[in-house]
Amino acid sequence: MKVIKSVEKMQSFSESLRLQGERIAFVPTMGYFHEGHLCLMKEAKKMADCVVVSIYVNPSQFGPKEDFSKYPRDLERDLKMAESVGVDVIFYPPDKEMYPAGYQTYVDVEEVTQNLCGMSRPGHFRGVTTVCNKLFNIVKPHIAIFGKKDFQQYISIKRMVDDLNLDLQIIGFPTVREADGPAMSSRNKYLKKNERPSALTLFRALKLAQKLYSNGEKKSSVIIKEVEKLIKKVPYTEIDYIKICSTETLRDVDKVKNQTVMALAVKVGTTRLIDNHVFGDKLEI
Ligand code: AMP
Repeated sequence: MKVIKSVEKMQSFSESLRLQGERIAFVPTMGYFHEGHLCLMKEAKKMADCVVVSIYVNPSQFGPKEDFSKYPRDLERDLKMAESVGVDVIFYPPDKEMYPAGYQTYVDVEEVTQNLCGMSRPGHFRGVTTVCNKLFNIVKPHIAIFGKKDFQQYISIKRMVDDLNLDLQIIGFPTVREADGPAMSSRNKYLKKNERPSALTLFRALKLAQKLYSNGEKKSSVIIKEVEKLIKKVPYTEIDYIKICSTETLRDVDKVKNQTVMALAVKVGTTRLIDNHVFGDKLEI
């Protein structure tokens, strides 16, 4: 497995693969891998000749009061894990390669970044779409794979790729969960032992919402109220949002149907967790 740190070297490596007719699949990450990341890499392996994974904790997607400096990092461990699933290249750029002095260009996707996490994390998606656009220009992939766990991120990237005619295909991968339900996340590491049981609540809430819907409830407001009641009973939790939205526009909807999404952000202790479920899809571990 190759580790490339320079933008120029990554671009020329990808260019040479393209000239040989090889297909490149790309998995952008912030590192501190778990099984969810590895599943994306394994999927990428099935779809291309060369799998490139980036590890970059992107400063422009963190707000001033967020966890940029304490975000978990462990490069040695990540390299071993990536190699074990057959990743070909790790792109690991330093900040000065990604945002050199004088940097001033950003990509803003409009409507789909406004609701949900866009409300509580102003500027977050501008940082995400900007860095992904840059990474696509550096890695030059044919395919890029994103987890649907970060549903708004996945939709925003798809929107950007369509709107800017970027020449690659975006694939969404289902959420990979812990054995007892919670979505795997690098941030689960922040949870204190006594908070861990409370982190199960997001999955339980999504299960309850799907059950109410399957039993015939179609009003968003009713489902949201029930989910709110459930979460509020659980210690250490503080709701950021509970919403039901169109999967296309991410606007709130009054009526639930297949292909609307329930999205949750809940703080457990000081750790902000997100999860979502598209009604009608399977909700399994
Ligand atoms: P991150 O390193 O957290 O920025 O995530 C890198 C990629 O892995 C993103 O596309 C995430 O959506 C995806 N990802 C993170 N956690 C999971 C998970 N539990 N299941 C599926 N994909 C995930």
